[in-house]
Amino acid sequence: MPFSSFGLSPALLNLLAEQNYEQPYPIQKEVIPAVLGRTDILGIAPTGSGKTASYVLPILSNLQGSSALKNRHAQVLVLVPTRELAVQVRDVFILFGTELPERIKTIAAYGGVSINPQMIGLQGVQVLVATPGRLLELVDSNAVHLSEIETLVLDEADKMLNLGFQEEMKRIFTLLPKKRQNLLFSATLSEKLANINQIVLHNPVVIKIESERETIDLIEQTGYFVTLEKKGPLLRYIIKSRELKQVLVFTSSTFQADNVADKLCKNGIDAVSIHSKKSQGARTEALREFKTGRLRVLVTTDLLARGIDIEFLPQVINYELPRSPKDYIHRIGRTGRAENPGEAISFVAPEDQHHFRIIQKKMGKWVTMIDSANLDLKGF
Ligand code: AMP
Repeated sequence: MPFSSFGLSPALLNLLAEQNYEQPYPIQKEVIPAVLGRTDILGIAPTGSGKTASYVLPILSNLQGSSALKNRHAQVLVLVPTRELAVQVRDVFILFGTELPERIKTIAAYGGVSINPQMIGLQGVQVLVATPGRLLELVDSNAVHLSEIETLVLDEADKMLNLGFQEEMKRIFTLLPKKRQNLLFSATLSEKLANINQIVLHNPVVIKIESERETIDLIEQTGYFVTLEKKGPLLRYIIKSRELKQVLVFTSSTFQADNVADKLCKNGIDAVSIHSKKSQGARTEALREFKTGRLRVLVTTDLLARGIDIEFLPQVINYELPRSPKDYIHRIGRTGRAENPGEAISFVAPEDQHHFRIIQKKMGKWVTMIDSANLDLKGF
């Protein structure tokens, strides 16, 4: 089934070809026609499955030829849990909107940065991609109105529930018109999510894509038994001896992220840490440098484990293991994206061994283990 079979406009088909999207991914085959048909959708799909384009393309198509609205009345609202995801989704709307005969104005609104440019930007907005808190601030200052929303998208809905956005979301729902199209996407289907479905969705088409399994199979996983004090030398040994060019390193605290990045820099390895305590400007800048390959190592906490798409990221290193097996899968899912192979390396300290066995059991896959005591880490 080629993209041309969906009835998308020639401008969109051209851009798809330019972006080397040759064939629709499984989720796109199901979501695109359903969104074009204006039905509600519950999409269970891991990040990296092509979910963003699956809703962006038909939404842009539906907006073509729709009547112009009152100023500051968005037609499409996409709610996302993090600032980074807001920017990423906005960029996909802008990318695919560039050649459309009718220009679509898309704005990303998220906290941690000045509100004024967002207020000004909302002039004439059609697609608004927002995190819940900032959205409500903008609504409260009359910078945007939600009464004309035709399509609501909840992206990474499971994450939004975990991050405790329920109260804010409840308020947002009261501001939306009753008649609208709802698209809800989540990597997992939890009980909490099932409740939200009942409130939000009307006779949804349920689309479940089980590609997380396939993604995991594409990732080569290795574990290193290592003592706490040898983690630093081991990290430098792996990066230097294998001449790794683009590595995402995960720690469990912001303090440790800074610490690891500092030590790498002191040892001549270009590294920057990003986490919730860094300014939005610093986060955006570091992520951009890393994505474009100018920054060799990005050290982060679980802030980035979900949703952020870094094309062809070859290596992910768990300097510290995440607490939950689910987070482990999300972290390693930063590599092996969209059918490209990747590698995930995990440092397993003596006190982590039991926990790492649980992670492997939950994942249904055993990881090759190497004992770092047999490596010559002197000088690293
Ligand atoms: P997402 O799950 O939306 O974060 O998308 C994961 C990655 O897959 C992104 O880098 C997209 O640009 C890419 N992608 C999505 N759909 C396709 C497709 N049909 N062909 C090639 N690449 C795609």
